[in-house]
Amino acid sequence: MSDHYPNIIGVHGLVWAGSWNEAEARAAIEQSAAAGYDVIELLMMDPQAMNVAMTRRLLDEYGLKASASLGLSARTDVSSDDPEVVAAGRRVLSDAVSVATDLGLIYLGGVVFGALKKYSAPVTERGRTNSIEAVRGLCDTAARAGIPIGLEVVNRYESNLLNTASQAMEYIRDVGSDNLFVHLDSYHMNIEENDMFSAVLTCGDRLGYVHVGESHRGYLGTGSVDFDGLFRGLLHAAYTGPITFESFSSAVVDPDLSYTLAIWRNLWSDNVDLAEHARGFIDAALRSAARIAG
Ligand code: MN
Repeated sequence: MSDHYPNIIGVHGLVWAGSWNEAEARAAIEQSAAAGYDVIELLMMDPQAMNVAMTRRLLDEYGLKASASLGLSARTDVSSDDPEVVAAGRRVLSDAVSVATDLGLIYLGGVVFGALKKYSAPVTERGRTNSIEAVRGLCDTAARAGIPIGLEVVNRYESNLLNTASQAMEYIRDVGSDNLFVHLDSYHMNIEENDMFSAVLTCGDRLGYVHVGESHRGYLGTGSVDFDGLFRGLLHAAYTGPITFESFSSAVVDPDLSYTLAIWRNLWSDNVDLAEHARGFIDAALRSAARIAG
């Protein structure tokens, strides 16, 4: 947290480590804190695989908060027409809340509303209803633990359900939970939204989490994302929630996520330099926005 803005600033775990044994977890958490971040975002593709006791102990040791994100798979797709696949997905979401509660997470989100994959057909009406019912259950359980749930709006190659801020807002109205928020990501917005500023304002006070990522997912400011429009939007929406830096390179690989996201190129190798640069970039952008506000 800064004197200049209310947001806490996070960094995605895959900047540091492709898996999560104790040595990797310690390095990731220690380096996140050393680079000036308040939060580390944990990858929770398989909640049951998370070593809760070890992770919690290291977070406490370095005084870092944690959030987590996941994407469902074709076998656990809650937007499927197949009741068995939906039931499998609901079990993953339920496990995720239980692990999130034990870890004391500040946020749980991602592609929790369907599979993180390239679909070859639009979502069906039945599938969308299945998704809404599953996410409603997720929100209710998480609300009891005080954990907000986020819908990460992703590009067309990673979801057929939520590609824009306005689709997410309509979905939230249909779920009808106070514990459900939009999670915007500048990398995806750059592909799907008309512009950054109006997409943020579309969410208003329902924006709950923000990923800051470049168009190629490398160093901030070296691609085509309109960060000026994004941060002006966050200012005008009076967004006070977490802002998390997300970047991927073939230098740090989790096969489950990295291959699904098509991380084929090496955008960086020095993750300490990358993370320090991003922390400074976000700080400068927020301080500039605060100056505009006067
Ligand atoms: Mn993201």
